Amino acid sequence: MNVLRVALDVPLATLFDYLPAPDALHAPEQPGDRVVVTFGRRERVGIVMERVTDSTIPPERLKPILRVLTDAPRLPADWLELMRFLSSYYQRPLGETVAGALPPRLRSVKALPKRKLRALSARDDAGESRFVPSNQPNPAQAGAVERIGAALGSFRPFLLHGVTGSGKTEVYLQLIARVLDRGHQALVMVPEIGLTPQLEARFRHAFPLENISILHSALEAGARTHAWLDAARGEAGIVLGTRLAALTPLPRLGLVVVDEEHDTSFKQQEGLRYSGRDAAIFRAKVAGCPVVLGTATPALETWHNCRMGRYERIDLPERAVPGATLPRVRLVDLSIDPADHGFARGTVEALRGRLARGEQSLVFINRRGYSPVLACESCGWAAGCERCTANLVLHSTDRRLRCHHCGWEETVPRACPTCGNPDLRPIGRGTQRVEETLAALFPEARIARIDRDSARRRGELEKALEGIRRGDADLLVGTQLLAKGHDFPGLTLVCVLGADNSLFSTDYRAAERLFATLAQVAGRSGRREQAGEVLVQTRFPKHPLFEALVRHDYPSFAEAQLSDRESAGFPPFVHEAALRAEAKQLEVSMDFLREVAASVTPTEAVRIYDPVPHVITRRAGYERAQLLVQSRSRPALQSLLTAWSERLFADSPRNVRWHLDVDPIEFD
Ligand SMILES: [Zn+2]
Ligand SMILES: [Zn+2]
Repeated sequence: MNVLRVALDVPLATLFDYLPAPDALHAPEQPGDRVVVTFGRRERVGIVMERVTDSTIPPERLKPILRVLTDAPRLPADWLELMRFLSSYYQRPLGETVAGALPPRLRSVKALPKRKLRALSARDDAGESRFVPSNQPNPAQAGAVERIGAALGSFRPFLLHGVTGSGKTEVYLQLIARVLDRGHQALVMVPEIGLTPQLEARFRHAFPLENISILHSALEAGARTHAWLDAARGEAGIVLGTRLAALTPLPRLGLVVVDEEHDTSFKQQEGLRYSGRDAAIFRAKVAGCPVVLGTATPALETWHNCRMGRYERIDLPERAVPGATLPRVRLVDLSIDPADHGFARGTVEALRGRLARGEQSLVFINRRGYSPVLACESCGWAAGCERCTANLVLHSTDRRLRCHHCGWEETVPRACPTCGNPDLRPIGRGTQRVEETLAALFPEARIARIDRDSARRRGELEKALEGIRRGDADLLVGTQLLAKGHDFPGLTLVCVLGADNSLFSTDYRAAERLFATLAQVAGRSGRREQAGEVLVQTRFPKHPLFEALVRHDYPSFAEAQLSDRESAGFPPFVHEAALRAEAKQLEVSMDFLREVAASVTPTEAVRIYDPVPHVITRRAGYERAQLLVQSRSRPALQSLLTAWSERLFADSPRNVRWHLDVDPIEFD
């Protein structure tokens, strides 16, 4: 008997058996085929994962596959292997893993609209000048290209550790040219959509004849399907995208690049909670090709892997533009030069100097809105979200209070709802308040604010960034959104406000993130001939993190962090996973976690912590708690998680929502 085991998008950790389709047009079905089957009363799309000769279900109860969809290529064996790996590593049913990896159109039972035939891709009339280098690589870049280029054709992970502005992209482009010459595909992953347009333009300029697939979740469905199909058919030589690009079938994969590999947005925070970076490394391993992790501030896991000899490290220690140097970082000691409306005198003077010289400055504060708290000073009331354990953020542009955790919003009350005091005070500051202060200090300056509020609609961010590059603004105020990857030629000064907020966090990853953010934002300054300067306002100028930042000394910062983590028993010296639960009452969540924890016999190999409520316990009306497990042994951890998830998928209470997060990075 021929039985096909099919992955379906249902929250059950099993495959479903079907018989071959009665019509023999496409028979026999193979693993990787997209098929339409009846499940319950509905027709659904599934993926054939394997062919077997027997089923635990009696043959008379097995239903046949209704039809095979042939509008997209059959999913290749290495892609099915990737899905199996992700499903078992991240403890997510195979059916949901597979469905989540496909573009939405390919999950529909309707066949794709027929595509117009396109001109043959440039690859077929292989010209000599398919690669247009933007400039001559400097010796460090050329050395990196040689070393990585020599590894083409075999699996080898590299860390390309390049200071900001060191020209990592040029290294990628040179390598991709070699990969295309061999007839292979290159997968290039970047953290954010906002970065893609500038980078995309650069890739198109360098490879004017190449078919480049752009893949990210903000694409409209049709465009995403086309890009995916081009990649899956092997027609696109270059696939450039966010983390989901790692899940695309690539039949001729010859190189993987993960740019800004430390960026937390490579980790998906819902559904399949996978790391795009780690999936990319797995891809390279299966395809037998090098993987390049590029960054100025590597993730400590990556740095550790270099120390252990698992990854090869290549340094780009200097800026690529001739004459450009790393910016001078100065700490503004707020205990000597106290802040007025958020700004120390030294900071204001530095801004004034740049304005007089017609140079751009960036004021960085990683908090959007006007102020994070609206409070009554006479009774102590503060505007809080009813659905979350969090304060509402005051937004001045439309006089609204917004919850940044669940999206709740309301109008600003006229008076304190508790005592009637009409004088409610905003406490602390966000980008809108900083913009207001700057406008008062420098009425003649043109100010541009860039954050998630100013760039809500598609294309707005891009337009604003283009304006900044043209020199349409003197002062920029922005969040993290401005820190990453952008190249503003006229920017020579960066001022950082509020850095102390994350200096003493309970999250052991906060320092790593703060250093990365500050190094990134500092890196926006002085990328051309004019020297750049960075001012960081702080009350703790002696803090080792700031001292390392001033010296641009990532290695010593990383070594200090790693030795702290080793003695405290944190990753990367142990492996971690979190079981999270949410319910209408906190006790329900906590009881659920206690019960799961008690369901296994404790072993030496795995440490199970007591369940604890989240820091922001209530979010969107649900009370959240989590259970952390740690082990030095990955297999021991995985086998515990498998035992848990098998039990929970089979039977879990209806009043609790739960998920497992393997290698978690967010603990709010
Ligand atoms: Zn009051
Ligand atoms: Zn809320």
